[in-house]
Parts: sequence; C-alpha cells; structure tokens
Amino acid sequence: MDDGVLKLIKPEVLELEGYSVAAPAHTIKLNQNESPYELPAAIKEAFVDRLRSAAWSRYPSQVPGDLCERLRETLGLPTGIDVLVGNGSNELIQTLLMATIERGAGTIIPVPTFSLYALVARVLGAALIEVPLNEDLTFGTDRILDAATRSRAKLIILCRPNNPTGTVIPIDGVKRLAERTGALVVVDEAYHDFAADNVLPLLFDHENLVILRTFSKAMRAAGLRIGYLLGHAALVKQLTKAMLPFNVSLMAREAALAILRNKNLLQEGIEEIIEGREALFQELAAIKGITPFSSQANFICFRTQVSAKALYEALLERGILIRDVSGYSMLADCLRVSVGTPEENRAFITALEAIMEEA
Ligand code: PMP
Repeated sequence: MDDGVLKLIKPEVLELEGYSVAAPAHTIKLNQNESPYELPAAIKEAFVDRLRSAAWSRYPSQVPGDLCERLRETLGLPTGIDVLVGNGSNELIQTLLMATIERGAGTIIPVPTFSLYALVARVLGAALIEVPLNEDLTFGTDRILDAATRSRAKLIILCRPNNPTGTVIPIDGVKRLAERTGALVVVDEAYHDFAADNVLPLLFDHENLVILRTFSKAMRAAGLRIGYLLGHAALVKQLTKAMLPFNVSLMAREAALAILRNKNLLQEGIEEIIEGREALFQELAAIKGITPFSSQANFICFRTQVSAKALYEALLERGILIRDVSGYSMLADCLRVSVGTPEENRAFITALEAIMEEA
C-alpha cells in the first residue's frame, strides 16, 4: 500500500511507537503488575447474580451513581470532592489530557515512568518536558519544580509509586509542586495499596490536585476495566464533559460494587504481596550481578550486570515472563518483575540464580 492515506494521519501519531506489551508463551506471568490472586469465588458469584437479573438490553446509567456513592463512603470523601469512574484508569488519563492539553501546553513528566502519559500527551501536541529521575531512581522534586516554573507548565504528571521503578516521590514534594506552581498536578496512585502512604489527605485543600486509581492491581480486576479519578467538584464537572457517555459498562459497575462490598476479603492478599516484595528484594540483592531498587509497589525494578535483553530471554526460555524495561530512559540495564505468589517468586528466583551462575 502506498502511503497516500497515511498522509491523513497526524504527524504526532505517525511518529509514535504505540503502546504494546509482548505476549510470548510462558508458564509464569510476572510482566503486567496484576494480582497473582484471582478474586474470591464469593465475590464472583455475587457479581454474576447481580448481572443475571440486570437489564442487558438497556444502556447503563450515564454516571454509575451507586458506584460513586460507594467509593465516597469507602474513602470517606468530604463534600466538594467528586469521583469520576472510567473504563480503566487509562481512559481517565486520556480524558484528563484531552480536557487540559492544547497544542504547545507545557506538560511535565518525570521519567522513566508509565509510557501512556507521554503517548497521549504527544497525540494532543503537548510540549512535553521530561525530567529525569535522580541516578538512584528517586525523585528530584527541586528539579521538577524548577522545570515546571520555568516552562509555566500546565500539567505535572506524577506516578506514585512510580511504574516501572517502584520509587516514590515524598508527599511533601507533591505538596510543594501543588502549592508553588499554577499547574494541575496529577498523581497516578495505581499502586497505592502497596505503599506506605498516599496523597488523598492532600487533595482536600489543594484544588489543583487530581488522583487516579484503578481496580486493576490490588483489587484483582484488571480484566474488568475499572478506574476512578478523585478531584474537586468544579474540576471534575469539566472533565466529565470530555468523557464519552456510557463509558462504564454494566459489568464493570457491578463488579466494582461487588468488590467494594467485600473489600475485606482482599486485604490479606495485599499483605502477602507486600511481604513477598520484601522477601524478593532480599533475594534479588543476594544474587551477584543483580541490584534491585527499593519498591513500594507490587513489582521490583532491578539492574543486571549481564545484558537485560539476554536475561529476559533466558528467563522466558524457562517459562518465566517478566518485563523488559531496558528501552526506557535510564533503565538500559534493567528489568522489572511483578510480585507473584510465593511459589511463582521462588520459581523466578531459582531460575534467575541459575542463569546468573552460568553467566
Ligand atoms: N497507571 C499506571 C501507573 C499503570 O501502571 C497502569 C497499568 N499498567 C495504569 C495506570 C492503567 O491501569 P488501568 O488498568 O486502570 O487502565
């Protein structure tokens, strides 16, 4: 095909690599930071029961009011703070950027981070300002503040804990960015359940702060596509306009409600993952040629003295699929592994030890 029709595509899109996750055959899956635990059968059954008696032929409600209300209660949100539910938090990232970014809008993104922010920002023609993390992958708040002030940035996107590094910008850093810039500060808390703290308390008195969360990680529902955004009511009202109607399916809404009604059943799994992460960190640190970065998420990023790509392939040959993040800036010799069940973690460490010994 000649590229005639492709001339109709925006140059910003033509230049993109696109988001893609490798999906080779494997026996142990530790590449997408999902929960290794399925939802308890009791939750699935309650969900399916509700689905059976629901009207599938009708559109879902335009706003999933009952779900928003349940989230408000669960999180103890005061009046003045609103919830926007999305088809995964990916959709909310897109909505948020569509509503705020016009061509040339200064957009600060500390890197390396979740690649979707830059992808959507680029499609929208943002003036992207990528601020590298410190050498040890911690956040240099002063440099971020400096870049935001100098560029009069409109948007600062922080991932906390940060994917793929697992490192965390201090709460005080987020506060300073919200207070000392005129920017909208977006904090993606996809992994907050595994972290020591979160920025929700900051939201109440910072109207230029927005929080994104998801049911895809600790809530074990990546397949159902549910995310939510928390922000001040006036802002959320505007964001809602940039969102497609009926974006939350009946299935997603009922699943989220069933999960929230039984949230206590998920807590033990979260604690096991945190314990698993700490054990995995120690074991990685004990392997010669491997240096893990301390993480507050459900994954660990680690440096390797051998080729990251070769190590990724060698693990895959043994059936273990992790994430090759060596294409990210600053991570040329790094890989990322999601925390699995204790058995999966053991299999991963055993394989890694064997490969590193042979190397
Ligand atoms: N934010 C971050 C930081 C993520 O790592 C991911 C998933 N990889 C998402 C958002 C997307 O989550 P969802 O499944 O809710 O779209």
